[in-house]
Amino acid sequence: MKFQASKGTYDVMPDQVHLWQHIESVIREQSRIYGFKEIRTPVFEDTALFVKGTGDTTDIVQKEMYTFTDKGQRSITLRPEGTPPVLRALIEHNTLKEQPCAKVFYLAPMFRYERPQAGRMRQHTQFGAEVLGSHSPLADVEAISLLFFTLQKLGLGGLSLRLNSLGCAQCRPPYRQKLTDHFKPMLPELCDNCQDRYNRNPLRILDCKIDQAKFKDVPEMKDFLCGDCKTHFQAVQDRLKDIEIPFTLDKNLVRGLDYYTRTAFEVISQHLGAQDALGGGGRYDGLMEDLGGSPAPGVGFGSGLERYVLALKNQGVNLPPEKRPDVYIATLGDEAVKKGSLLCSQLRQKGLACEQELLGRSLKAQMREAGRLNARYVALIGEDEIRKGLVTLKDMDQHQQAEVAFDELVVNVPKYCQCE
Ligand SMILES: [Zn+2]
Ligand SMILES: [Zn+2]
Repeated sequence: MKFQASKGTYDVMPDQVHLWQHIESVIREQSRIYGFKEIRTPVFEDTALFVKGTGDTTDIVQKEMYTFTDKGQRSITLRPEGTPPVLRALIEHNTLKEQPCAKVFYLAPMFRYERPQAGRMRQHTQFGAEVLGSHSPLADVEAISLLFFTLQKLGLGGLSLRLNSLGCAQCRPPYRQKLTDHFKPMLPELCDNCQDRYNRNPLRILDCKIDQAKFKDVPEMKDFLCGDCKTHFQAVQDRLKDIEIPFTLDKNLVRGLDYYTRTAFEVISQHLGAQDALGGGGRYDGLMEDLGGSPAPGVGFGSGLERYVLALKNQGVNLPPEKRPDVYIATLGDEAVKKGSLLCSQLRQKGLACEQELLGRSLKAQMREAGRLNARYVALIGEDEIRKGLVTLKDMDQHQQAEVAFDELVVNVPKYCQCE
């Protein structure tokens, strides 16, 4: 029997992990600079949290969740998105009572039973963030700019924003009614998915890729926005202009989730082709209350690191070089092996990245290994060196070598090794 990674999952092998670690470290540093603190919630939650939070009319809840009954007969779901768990945690820990505005981010695996395709996997890694407690358009811009400038910091070019406003609890219902009236006569021409959405949430019809061409004279939310929503949306646009985040208004951008109010956005890259979104999100002013918390507005985003990786590769972005071992210890003979292993331990305790031979190969093979690992120095210990109490230190970049007393090397490492 031969095992393989499950459909829609993948391994990040040691020779690729550097890229992921680089992305993750940029995300953590950017989040710190923008004042977002990391939050870590469990991989699984009560199924009801997503049915209520994500919304039972969404594709996620209808088709894509990994749901199972545990041995205690509870219905459990592997988290398909980050926002409901984060809000659940903030409510459970009364966070907004002590701190009326909370900014958090997460970097964590999500699970969706989808048809796997490039950059879309059944287990994928999401960078997401939420700003809770503020109605201000600046909160929207805070979330948008964290995502946008993190992608820019990673070296991605051709970035811009798609932007829309979905209105609020006052102005959306009349719009929804108008849409329902509009779609009613054309319903037979629309795809099965749209027929289904018509009953559940007609706004989601605008999301349909198949029927997009039929939506040219669909009523637009912007004509229905109430005064407050209009002012809010205008301020979001003005602040985005101030900080030079390019955007285009997209009247059909409704996003795949039911909870969005007012701002909805996607960050797109010119270099990604048809599936050009690198991430997106929006405002969700009713969600805290829906999940049993005190009413509090919120805005946030989610984005998939798999898509970052694709975009970085497509654009051929140069990454900082992988850290190399400082010293490779090559040994010949039993005494040298013992001495080498001691030296290795002592240099590591001084903070140097050290490698030693574990397969007992020939000196020639060990030198080849040092080359493969791109070690900065090789500390060679053979029979000669043992007799003299020395180490032959080879500088692999300068192609020079020197004999250094064993104890002297350990005590004065910086003098001998100009290590990065
Ligand atoms: Zn409104
Ligand atoms: Zn359709």
